Amino acid sequence: MTTGTTAGFGLENLPYGVFSHGDDRRRIGVAYGDAVLDVGAAAAGGPFEALLAAPVLNPLLAAGRATWTAVRAAITEWLRDPVTSAHLVPRSEVTLHLPFEVGDYVDFYSSEQHATNVGKIFRPDSAALTPNWKHLPIGYHGRSGSIVVSGTPVVRPKGQRKGPQDPAPVFGPSVRLDIETEVGFVVGAGSPLGSTVPVEDFAEHVFGVFLLNDWSARDLQAWEYVPLGPFLGKSFATSISPWVVPLDALQAARVAPPARDPEPLPYLRDNGDWGLDLAIEVRLNGHLVSSPPFAGMYWTPAQQLAHMTINGAPTRPGDVYASGTVSGASKQEYGSLLEMSWGGAEPLTLPDGTTRTFLEDGDEIVISATAPGPDGSRIAFGEVAGRIEPAT
Ligand code: CA
Repeated sequence: MTTGTTAGFGLENLPYGVFSHGDDRRRIGVAYGDAVLDVGAAAAGGPFEALLAAPVLNPLLAAGRATWTAVRAAITEWLRDPVTSAHLVPRSEVTLHLPFEVGDYVDFYSSEQHATNVGKIFRPDSAALTPNWKHLPIGYHGRSGSIVVSGTPVVRPKGQRKGPQDPAPVFGPSVRLDIETEVGFVVGAGSPLGSTVPVEDFAEHVFGVFLLNDWSARDLQAWEYVPLGPFLGKSFATSISPWVVPLDALQAARVAPPARDPEPLPYLRDNGDWGLDLAIEVRLNGHLVSSPPFAGMYWTPAQQLAHMTINGAPTRPGDVYASGTVSGASKQEYGSLLEMSWGGAEPLTLPDGTTRTFLEDGDEIVISATAPGPDGSRIAFGEVAGRIEPAT
C-alpha cells in the first residue's frame, strides 16, 4: 500500500511505520513529504540506533514518553540536515507492513450517535442506549491475530446466520458485510498486572493514533452476539492504517469532548481532556459516502484506557484499542453501511448509478483522515484500505 500525497506529512507530523524497499528486510520509517526516512539508517552510531534499527516499533513503544520525545526531536533535526537525504526513499516505492507486533486488542463503542442508531436498528422495541452506556465506555476483547495492514484483501467470511423469520440457521458467506470507521490507539509504555492507568496518565502510556476498519458481518453478528457480544462476525479481519501518528503531533487537534450527563464516576472524570478533532472520510469504490467527525465522541481515549485498566488488567507495548464506530448526526456522517442504509432498508445510490446496502465482492473501502496541526497546518493520517474478495 502506497500513497503519493505529500500534504499533511510535514515536520509537524512525522508518523512512524514499517517498510521494506527492494528486499524483504523490514525497517522503521517516518513519513516525510512524499518520502520515507529510513530512521534505522539515520540513527546509525547514535544513542537511538538499537530502538530504530528494529523491524517493528515495539522496542520504541516500550521505551516510554521521555524517549519518544527525544527521538522525535532527533528525527526533526536529521530532516533539517541535507546529509539525511541519503536515507530518504520515495514512498511510492516502498511496501508498508504492520508497524508493530499487536498485543491485546480491545474495541470500544463510544459514539453516542452510533450506539443509538445500532440500538434502534437491532433492538427496535427497547431503549436505544442500554442503561450502562453513559456510565462506562462499553467494549469487548477482539482478536489481535487478525489485525492486518491497509491493502490486505478481506475475504468474505462464512458463518451461521438466522433471520427473524427463518425457522433454522443456515451456513454460508455473509450477505451483510459491513465496515466500521474507527480510530485506533497503540499502547507504548505498559502497566503491570494489578495497576491502573488514571485518565491523566494517558499520554505517558499511549504512543500514537491510526485509522482502523472493524470489518463486520452483520448477519453473523446478529445471530451470535446475545448474550456475550461480538465474536466471529468481527474476528475475520480488522484493518489498520500503516502510519502511527504520535500524540506529540496532535496537540493542536485536542478539543473538549461533549458534556457528559450524568457525570461519570470519579475514575472516569477527565477535565475535558483528549477529545480529538479528526476529520474522517469514507470512500466506497472511490466515491465519498461519509465524513464522520471524531470530535463528538462521548468517551475519550484517555477514559477508555482508564476504564480498561481499572480492574487491574495489565497493558503491554503493542496493545491496541479502538474508539468504536465514529458516527455523526446525519446520514452523511455515519460510520457504517448498517447505519447509512438503515439496516438495509434504504440502499445508497452511488454516483455510478449502482446501489448498495452492504458490501459486494470487489468493493473497496478507503478511510482517510486529517487533523489540525500547529500554525494552521494539517496532520494527515494516510489511509486504511481494503477490498472484498469472494468467500472461498
Ligand atoms: Ca467496532
